[in-house]
Amino acid sequence: MSSNRQAATRRRKRPQPPIYNGVYNSYEDKNNDFVCPICFEMIEEAHMTKCGHTFCFKCITRSLEESNRCPKCNFVIEKTDQIFPNFLCK
Ligand SMILES: [Zn+2]
Ligand SMILES: [Zn+2]
Repeated sequence: MSSNRQAATRRRKRPQPPIYNGVYNSYEDKNNDFVCPICFEMIEEAHMTKCGHTFCFKCITRSLEESNRCPKCNFVIEKTDQIFPNFLCK
């Protein structure tokens, strides 16, 4: 008897909140271009590389300190002045 009740309680407490799926899907649908491929958050102070990829300003500058390549397509970006503010993303 008591083991039956335990199972019922367990079923009610699901570890994954159902809202997670909805949020994730809507990101993929319409905001995919606005999600930074480095931090996977909404892009802050969008900056575009010469090769046309957009990242947060802080993410792309930090990434270029470690390696001078676009994290998305490996295009060589010699200096941080080869990235430009991307006003389309505002
Ligand atoms: Zn970022
Ligand atoms: Zn790129």
